[in-house]
Amino acid sequence: MNITTTSSIISSIKSISDAKNPFAVFNLWLSDLDDIEVGNGSETDNPIFRITTERVRGAVLESDSIFYTGKNQFTIIFSSFGRVENIPQIATQICKAMEHPFVADHNEYYLTCSLGISIYPFDSKRADELYLFSQIAMQKSAMLRNKNIQFYSFLSEPNPGERISIFNEFQRAINSKEFELCYQPKADLKIGNQTGVEAFLRWNHSIRKEVPPSIFIPIAESVGFMVTLGEWIVRQICVDIHYWMEERIILPCVSINISPQQLGDLCFSDRLLELLSASGITASHISLEITESTLLDTNIDIDQAIANLKSKGFILSLDDFGTGYSALNNLKRFPFDFVKIDQTFIQQLPGDVQDAAITKAVISMAHNLGMEVIAEGVETEMQCKFLRDSMCDQIQGNFFSKPLNAEGISNFFKGNPLLANHLLALKKPDRALLLVDDEPNILNALKRLFRRDNYKIYTAESGHEGLQILKNDRIDVIISDQRMPVMTGVDFLRTAKELYPDTVRIILSGYTELQYITDAINEGAIYKFLTKPWDDDLLRTNIRDAFQYKEMEDENRRLNIQIQTTNQELVRSNLLLADMLKRKESQISRDEISLNIVREALQFVPAPIFGIDDEDTIVFVNHFAEKICSNYLIELGTSIKNAIPEISFGIDEFEDEGKFNINIFSSQYVVYWKKMGGKSKSNGKIIVLLNALI
Ligand code: C2E
Ligand code: MG
Ligand code: MG
Repeated sequence: MNITTTSSIISSIKSISDAKNPFAVFNLWLSDLDDIEVGNGSETDNPIFRITTERVRGAVLESDSIFYTGKNQFTIIFSSFGRVENIPQIATQICKAMEHPFVADHNEYYLTCSLGISIYPFDSKRADELYLFSQIAMQKSAMLRNKNIQFYSFLSEPNPGERISIFNEFQRAINSKEFELCYQPKADLKIGNQTGVEAFLRWNHSIRKEVPPSIFIPIAESVGFMVTLGEWIVRQICVDIHYWMEERIILPCVSINISPQQLGDLCFSDRLLELLSASGITASHISLEITESTLLDTNIDIDQAIANLKSKGFILSLDDFGTGYSALNNLKRFPFDFVKIDQTFIQQLPGDVQDAAITKAVISMAHNLGMEVIAEGVETEMQCKFLRDSMCDQIQGNFFSKPLNAEGISNFFKGNPLLANHLLALKKPDRALLLVDDEPNILNALKRLFRRDNYKIYTAESGHEGLQILKNDRIDVIISDQRMPVMTGVDFLRTAKELYPDTVRIILSGYTELQYITDAINEGAIYKFLTKPWDDDLLRTNIRDAFQYKEMEDENRRLNIQIQTTNQELVRSNLLLADMLKRKESQISRDEISLNIVREALQFVPAPIFGIDDEDTIVFVNHFAEKICSNYLIELGTSIKNAIPEISFGIDEFEDEGKFNINIFSSQYVVYWKKMGGKSKSNGKIIVLLNALI
């Protein structure tokens, strides 16, 4: 049985729901399966997996469909139950069947199963909802200690205490130290060094062994436990960072995955800063990873939440990019520093033409927006090379390192881990030549000829063999014979062009099927057509030219990387500048507002007030002042010396402030004045007149 994608399972559910008869969707998760090392190590070619499949099959009819969705999860679309009331009994039978020991390699193994069930049409009539509901029910059953079976709603016993018991289960797990953190390093594709680590939560459940975060985190969210769990994670990260400081390793930037509940929590960032600063860690050492699906959460004011985290100085990464629905929009809308391409796009690289095109497009788009790109789940050297050639900035995945505990990270970093030179974007690799010919004599002759030129030489006796070499090694120039059994040289080079377009491809043939070869040259599959028998010197010159051409192209690519990097930095600085200007503008408008408020307030003070600038020009007069000096010529912009000389004389006597009595406007006044600018950047003086008789 192969791994089936969620979308094909949903299509199958949809097709059966067209018949309108009730059916159930079962989601079965077997914990512990990962720990059993039998078979050849592959997920589905393992005796325990085969026994499980047989046991599930034994409990249902041939007409029911069984799918394996990966990560120890099976989905069963089940309609052969007669009456709906029979479903619990059949579900129990499946779970009971799993209770028997599994025998493999003369050992007995025990697995724990969790089963979630949704029923058509009672829980929903929509295929995607039925799948999701059975998943949620399964997650719940994985959480509860003595419940292997959970119905989404129909047929389930009313259980008001369930939420509390799940909550308590999480609390118990924290208390009994069942949670732990591991960290996965990331590497830079230009110079090969480590660029930081991402923290992953692990739950070593007392009954179900390792429950994966994809199962328990949505449940922690739904029962409101994520904030507590998030706090535990940050505290643990601080402990681990402390340990790394003591171990004297270069402190890595730590990425933390944030759930929607944490993002929506207004106190989250302050709390996080508080915990970090108690350990002497600044926000610039922490990258917060927010998944694309979190951005779609309508319960959160996403713009505000993200702007808040950015203003506090955290690095922001958009996680699982490409799995959400509004992908491109999100890249432009939010100020992310990094985009992480989801591992589902990386897994089939470089062979899958569509995934390759999407990956390249995302990288180029992110760079144009001033963001760096990290590829997730990189497992092979070929994926790594493809990503380097596509100008991806960083990789993360088992290829560089599996997730490790704090001690493992310390040891890993002490070994100064670096990606190999030939995988890096800014290093010049050896010249690699692939020779393909079905005649071993010719291969040997060519090999002898080119050995003098110091090339790294690979040979293949067929197109298929050649493709295998291309899959595993970086090749610059290919020389292929045309007439070969099974696959002709032109067909081989056409495929090579499709999969490895950066190679330079040459046909060396004694036969000239003109039309066929002209077509291939015209469509760009072949760079040169050379004829047998060859002239040694001429052939060597031709191949040297081909390498020079390839190196020029590579150099262009390298320059392109540098230009893109510079552009990216430019875009990033522009964004920072725009952000600073925006903040300045809002500061100015805030200042203007407060100035207007003060001006208005002074208008209502029941005493005459004048404001003059540092050249003694009147710049402010309140209502009371206007009223009492209606006989004087007082206008904004006139000098106080000319307008009210009595006041001007009194002020000139002192430097900074003063008080004097005058008889003016037919009354006795005490004049108080003060030079401004003590607590602000203003100049000039403020003058207040108080009636001396009061
Ligand atoms: P993610 O943040 O996208 O993490 C990547 C997942 O890919 C991790 O799975 C990691 O162990 C796995 N991985 C890394 N390298 C490879 C590889 O080369 N091949 C394959 N096949 N897988 C690889 P994990 O630890 O099971 O986590 C799954 C998801 O659960 C994470 O996706 C993240 O969204 C969530 N998660 C994990 N830890 C936390 C946490 O502390 N808090 C929150 N809120 N979510 C977390
Ligand atoms: Mg992540
Ligand atoms: Mg991810």
